[in-house]
Amino acid sequence: MKALQYPSIGAAPAVVTVPDPEPGPGQVLLKVTAAGACHSDIAVMGFSADQIAFPLPLTLGHEGAGTVAALGPGATGVEVGEAVVVYGPWGCGVCRMCARGEENYCLRAQQEGIFPPGLGEPGAMAEYLLVDDPRHLVPIGDLDPVRTVPLTDAGLTPYHAIKLSLPKLVAGSTAVVIGTGGLGHVAIQLLRAMTATRVVALDINDDKLALARSVGAHEVLLSDERAAGRIRELTGGEGATVVLDFVGAPSTLALAGGSVGVEGDVTIVGIGGGTLPVGFGVLPYEVTVRSPYWGSRSELIEVLDLARQGALDVHVETFSLDEAPHAYRLLHDGKVNGRAVVVP
Ligand code: NAD
Ligand code: ZN
Ligand code: ZN
Repeated sequence: MKALQYPSIGAAPAVVTVPDPEPGPGQVLLKVTAAGACHSDIAVMGFSADQIAFPLPLTLGHEGAGTVAALGPGATGVEVGEAVVVYGPWGCGVCRMCARGEENYCLRAQQEGIFPPGLGEPGAMAEYLLVDDPRHLVPIGDLDPVRTVPLTDAGLTPYHAIKLSLPKLVAGSTAVVIGTGGLGHVAIQLLRAMTATRVVALDINDDKLALARSVGAHEVLLSDERAAGRIRELTGGEGATVVLDFVGAPSTLALAGGSVGVEGDVTIVGIGGGTLPVGFGVLPYEVTVRSPYWGSRSELIEVLDLARQGALDVHVETFSLDEAPHAYRLLHDGKVNGRAVVVP
């Protein structure tokens, strides 16, 4: 079958032919219907050899949707032909965190060498995808796989991040979304669907700000050195209730720290390498700083329920598998508005 692989450190991703996978005991084989491209893939392709914990080549794609093509011996719970999406942050299934459905924080994944598909195990940017266990699948019924597949990460990750701050996002509060790309443009919609907060969205690109406005941001601002002051003005000097940083660069974390208010939350989702100093008097009193990773399986089910209610309008730009290297170039250059989705 054809697969999009990251071949070796520093090399460009390329479409190659690999053996067709066959499901072993307990496994499920999917015929891939859609696979999303995430900026984290760009980050991984920038890692040095000692930062990568798994062997290369790697088939990319940690957002996956498909139809069940075959069940391995003993695999039950899904039917051949059923439409599903993949819950990506695989864990051991038995530790304390996995028992809570929070496989994203599996306590044994590292020692057991368990990796998500597309971030260690072969991913969804291929004609077929092997899934290690039916519990890592969620049926999607009639939802369109192409517009639903981003919800497995670009939806689930902001959903989990927002849920952490939900009690603070009351009427009169202000939520700041920094970076309105794949994750950010879904975050704005989640904030509007789940809360009464006022949403202020920031990006460095006017097209992204236009998308942010069209999906529900009340205010949009250019993300520059004046932005923290503008947010303070917009909040009558108080500062933001919650800042969600989908970039995580030094400049955006400075903006987050400079615009959050007393008892506010700064939630760092982007892996842009920045740090935020904390210490008494450095940030306003009682600010909470978090760095969440992905979300739980039950939260993915909740996000899909929101999609079924019509609350989410994910913007996708579609590419064939052969065009996938081009999609990653566009994503690298900041030229994808919404999410790039590969349809093999
Ligand atoms: P994306 O490329 O689709 O979007 C990033 C957006 O940030 C773009 O619109 C870009 O124009 C904007 N941007 C860049 N610099 C900016 C700045 N200085 N100020 C404001 N905006 C700026 O990326 P994505 O796929 O949405 O991923 C966003 C980040 O989240 C990445 O760092 C990714 O690795 C990370 N991520 C983290 C998790 C997690 O679990 N923590 C999960 C998925 C993605
Ligand atoms: Zn991702
Ligand atoms: Zn576990």
